[in-house]
Amino acid sequence: MNAPTERPAPAAAGSANEFDVVIVGAGFAGMYMLHRARGQGLRAVVFEAGDGVGGTWYWNRYPGARCDVESMEYSYQFDDTLQQQWHWSERFAPQPEILKYANHVADRYDLRRDIRFSTRVTAAHFDEAGARWNVTTDRGDQVSGRFVVMATGCLSSTNKPAFPGLETFTGPTYHTGEWPHEPVDFSGKRVAVIGTGSSAIQSIPIIAKQASELWVFQRTANYSVPARNAPLDPGYEARIKAEYQAFRARNSQMMGAFGSAFPRSEVSIFSASDEERDRAFAERWNRGGLGFQGAFADLMINPNANEIAADWVRERIREIVKDPATAELLCPTQVLGCKRMCVDTGYFETFNQPHVHLIDIRPGGIEAITPRGVKAAGREFEVDAIVFATGFDAMTGTLLRIDVRGRDGVSLRDAWAAGPRTYLGLNVAGFPNLFTVSGPGSPSVLTNMIVSIEQHVNWIAGCMAWLRAQGRRTIEATPQAQEAWVGHVNAVADTTLYPHCNSWYLGANVPGKTRVFMPLIGFPDYVKRCDEVVARGYEGFAVA
Ligand SMILES: Cc1cc2nc3c(=O)[nH]c(=O)nc-3n(C[C@H](O)[C@H](O)[C@H](O)COP(=O)(O)OP(=O)(O)OC[C@H]3O[C@@H](n4cnc5c(N)ncnc54)[C@H](O)[C@@H]3O)c2cc1C
Repeated sequence: MNAPTERPAPAAAGSANEFDVVIVGAGFAGMYMLHRARGQGLRAVVFEAGDGVGGTWYWNRYPGARCDVESMEYSYQFDDTLQQQWHWSERFAPQPEILKYANHVADRYDLRRDIRFSTRVTAAHFDEAGARWNVTTDRGDQVSGRFVVMATGCLSSTNKPAFPGLETFTGPTYHTGEWPHEPVDFSGKRVAVIGTGSSAIQSIPIIAKQASELWVFQRTANYSVPARNAPLDPGYEARIKAEYQAFRARNSQMMGAFGSAFPRSEVSIFSASDEERDRAFAERWNRGGLGFQGAFADLMINPNANEIAADWVRERIREIVKDPATAELLCPTQVLGCKRMCVDTGYFETFNQPHVHLIDIRPGGIEAITPRGVKAAGREFEVDAIVFATGFDAMTGTLLRIDVRGRDGVSLRDAWAAGPRTYLGLNVAGFPNLFTVSGPGSPSVLTNMIVSIEQHVNWIAGCMAWLRAQGRRTIEATPQAQEAWVGHVNAVADTTLYPHCNSWYLGANVPGKTRVFMPLIGFPDYVKRCDEVVARGYEGFAVA
């Protein structure tokens, strides 16, 4: 998508189009931002490209879409009555239930009246004289806001590789991140799934139940742990609800802001015997979920420790998958966890079914899409439908599709030409009063994201209130604070194994994208730093 070149016109002074806060996106971030802004008596409007709330959970309706953070943790905590009254049905919530929750929140807090749906923000330009942002949409809205909050999501712009011949395919194509609202029936169909990341790993077992033939095209094998999903245990739910706030507080002390019930071990793998290692891995594998990565303290910092864990998982894959050649192809070779680990229900088992085929496309990639199917590995696979599970232009893609211009008309695209640069992942130097929720340089995608979102929105709301109380108009990161922060984010990443493979954390899945490790590792230290910045009078920000 090309960014429009027209300049947003200023909204007429005092008009209905002048707001205190313009919020872009009505996922969990945008909805909570609206609620907080209203709570301060601010005039706020939300623009949302979709025709409903929920963001990720509105768009990703593919079969098997499910949260891999446990339900009792993946929800808002700002209102205790809400968290006490809402009931999750499963240990890991399925997409329809999370979408229902998002809609419940929108109704409960009467959010919809300030959300303009089916409306995409195309440009946001800062007007220095008035210290306001002029915002334009694809439906011709021209509004202005003192603040702009980009609640646009880290994983909301699909990555669709430009495979040659794509437009010639005669059957239907789907992207997991833009799934139709009506159920898709693959019964009796020959189906290709391109990609083997998280969305593919969740959907393949379900698509395989319907398809007559399923061809899975794999470039990189991924680590996946079983979810062991089950109906939510009422006893567990009652125990958490009896002390929900304390439970939340414990989770906020975790590196990823979740999983305190089964935290990362403090023990080095090298101080454990072979039997102890096996027991620790098996315990977490059998429990299910992302806790596997915390079996030992050093898995994400020591390559040898990591390789032991990786070997252990590869052994499980070889046990599950009967055909040795397919099992070998499904065994990942990269550092475990440096691409986001997947959580599955029967993924590896699916490849034991005779109609499911794994195609290794490492040598030449997808050579072409043809009218009849997919050309790869030197042959043509005839299929009736193609599913692209090719992920997202993560963290920066959505922001850069908007023509954002700060001081002196400098575009965000130019400011980030060498990769994203922010202060705290919340603001960019030269872009006053513009905030990014879970922006690059914040823990965002390495955490339970609802927790990160609430922390960011609370910080932004606090900042707006402070500016008003101080009678100030603008706040923006100083270039020095921003440079130091970018250095800090990289320095933290370099103490770990995270940057050691071509992941979307680095932008490596999008051709031509600058490779920079975008999220900050470690939620608790980050929160402490954000709080210190405030306590020191917004240290690192210029306020005018
Ligand atoms: C398949 C999948 C599974 C996930 N699983 C987990 C998980 O298990 N745990 C976890 O913590 N996180 C998970 N995530 C991350 C998830 O994105 C976050 O948890 C959370 O939902 C993000 O909320 P958000 O409001 O920040 O962004 P989003 O939910 O992405 O919402 C952003 C909204 O902004 C809108 N938008 C973007 N640009 C514009 C524009 N220019 N104009 C108007 N509207 C715009 C989009 O349409 C979208 O609705 C998952 C993501 C995906 C894709």
